Amino acid sequence: MTISQPWTTSPFIGEIPPVTATDDEIADALEHAALPPLLPALAYLTGDLSLLRPDLQIDPLLASALPQGGLSEDQQRAVRALALATLIRFRDGGSTPAPPPADEDLLRIMQYTVNSAATGEDMAPYLPLLVEELGVRSGDRRAPDWHRDRLAPDRTLEVVIIGAGMSGLLAAHRLQQAGIPFVIVEKDDDVGGTWLENTYPGCRVDNPNHNYSYSFAQRHDWPLHFSTQDVLLDYFRQCTDAFGVRERIRFGTEVLAASWSDETCRWTVQVRRPDGTEETLGADVVISAVGQLNRPLHPDIEGLDRFAGPAFHSARWDHDVDLTGKRVAVIGTGASAVQFAPEIAERADHLTVFQRTPPWLIPTPDYHEPVHPGLRWLYEHVPAYSEWNRFWIFWRMGDGALAGVHVDPAWNAETGSVSIENEMVKLLLTEYLRAELADRPDLFERVLPTYPPGAKRLLRDNGVWPAMLKRDDVTLVTDAISHVTETGVVTADGTEHQADVVVFGTGFQASAFLTPMTVTGVGGVDLHERWGGDATAYLGITVPDFPNFFCLYGPNTNIVINGSIIYFSECGVRYILGCLRVLLRTGHRAMAVRHDVHDAFAAAVDDANRLMSWGASDVNSWYKNANGRVTQNWPFTLLEYWQRTLAPDLGDFELVD
Ligand code: NAP
Repeated sequence: MTISQPWTTSPFIGEIPPVTATDDEIADALEHAALPPLLPALAYLTGDLSLLRPDLQIDPLLASALPQGGLSEDQQRAVRALALATLIRFRDGGSTPAPPPADEDLLRIMQYTVNSAATGEDMAPYLPLLVEELGVRSGDRRAPDWHRDRLAPDRTLEVVIIGAGMSGLLAAHRLQQAGIPFVIVEKDDDVGGTWLENTYPGCRVDNPNHNYSYSFAQRHDWPLHFSTQDVLLDYFRQCTDAFGVRERIRFGTEVLAASWSDETCRWTVQVRRPDGTEETLGADVVISAVGQLNRPLHPDIEGLDRFAGPAFHSARWDHDVDLTGKRVAVIGTGASAVQFAPEIAERADHLTVFQRTPPWLIPTPDYHEPVHPGLRWLYEHVPAYSEWNRFWIFWRMGDGALAGVHVDPAWNAETGSVSIENEMVKLLLTEYLRAELADRPDLFERVLPTYPPGAKRLLRDNGVWPAMLKRDDVTLVTDAISHVTETGVVTADGTEHQADVVVFGTGFQASAFLTPMTVTGVGGVDLHERWGGDATAYLGITVPDFPNFFCLYGPNTNIVINGSIIYFSECGVRYILGCLRVLLRTGHRAMAVRHDVHDAFAAAVDDANRLMSWGASDVNSWYKNANGRVTQNWPFTLLEYWQRTLAPDLGDFELVD
């Protein structure tokens, strides 16, 4: 017997088998459970809302920063005991789930999960989003509920998607579902985007897989909580095949330019083929899915070209260079370096780490841990547990964490924080660093950030980074870099730090959206000239005078507290599909967002970003462009992006016949 599972369409999840495990086996599995979503999942599964015991709720203030949502040891024991008794009853009753709860009960379970009673958060607007995220009731609710064959069978609408990474594949899948012809143009030889290009040692996602995965292609069998690059690349390859879009991808082909014709109301897309020759494609619609973080930023340091040894960027890792026994200089201490430097410290003779600005580290004990078989058993045998776990992650790393980075204008900024909540996060993260470096107070002083948490990306750590810094064969350099010689890196104090190899963990040209492509819109306007280095787009998706041109992961759609960019892409793709539906339904040939709508949106985004720790702080980060404007980040809730992208408002657009 298997339990039919009406709430998933995932190609990775089969039918759920009944619970046949012994009491002891269930108890063992529960030792490894993520506890905050456990009672909510069981209440959902059994319909028994008495499981939602107020004394076993998470502390919303600590939930984002502490393991198990900050539940005490006693609370954890009580949650496990209650869950054990419930699962035994579920097993003995034939493993039959209760009918899905009514809206008011679902809302109660959701309120309990996030402890909105403590925060006063109104969770009712989240209800339809939750239904979608959990996929409850009818599977993939973000799939288009329309098809071109029924809507406008005689109208052709050809789409060119640029990029076969996470968001390009998603756009292709949805277009295929809606019956709209498309081609994906991909400069690399395979799918995967960032997960194809970043092959540095230690590369892994810093967002739990249950969150960093398509809502409609969930997996119960992730081998790790935070998958390594190879696992994610494999996931996106498998999705490509499951979606049936591989044959629509032109690999090794780079888009050089896209230009709009006012006469034909079509785009001309100029591409360079794998053999170097160029070709022109015609399209009614262009979707840019090129990502934000893929053009390496090489530091502008005097003398770099003189360096005699190998020097390469983390995103272009040179696997031919054997670092064993070498003196390696690593420039940068961002998300990439924090992952690869500890790996190379294991084999280098000596590692010198050049830190300009220290990162805040967020304690994550399971960062490198495999998913325990007990936890996997729960995902695979307890219907709805994996889905509630996804919601829990979504909340604690998204809207539930926003209070910690909002600016309180009345707060004394000289504290180095932006609000009481931000100060509390700062204290927690400071204590973590202090404990990890208790035996090295000298190091603690040098790696303690002086800017508010959230002003730069928080980096996950399970003790590995501080342990690396303490090694005898690792030197942390905090003096500014002056120049590079043939044999090493010289700091402002005149010291030469000798090196055989230099590795740049210096990040990406994040503000240079859509470069190096040329994009030309109405009347020949050039997109990069229009932006002047200050990229903006309505909802991060659409720019005035660029009709039928849509961006995914465009300006101001980056999320900062580690929410999943896949969520944003799913919202964006639905909105774009909504626009195409408008064109098909109304017969209009093109649509372009109105200037006033775009400008008002951009101003609101700027205002809101100034009230977030990343906008208020003057610390440098890739969230800001050369003008100091935050061009990357979404300053509002995840809910708001979802609401605003449900469907286009025709009043926002100029429509062309
Ligand atoms: P990054 O966060 O921009 O970090 C670049 C580092 O290089 C910073 O420490 C920066 O110092 C330093 N740097 C840059 N130019 C320098 C110079 N001229 N001299 C000295 N130091 C210099 O880049 P990243 O680490 O590649 O990460 C970028 C983003 O990619 C992340 O925030 C994240 O969104 C994404 N990413 C994600 C993962 C993941 O796990 N999912 C992994 C890697 C990257 P300052 O801080 O002083 O500027």
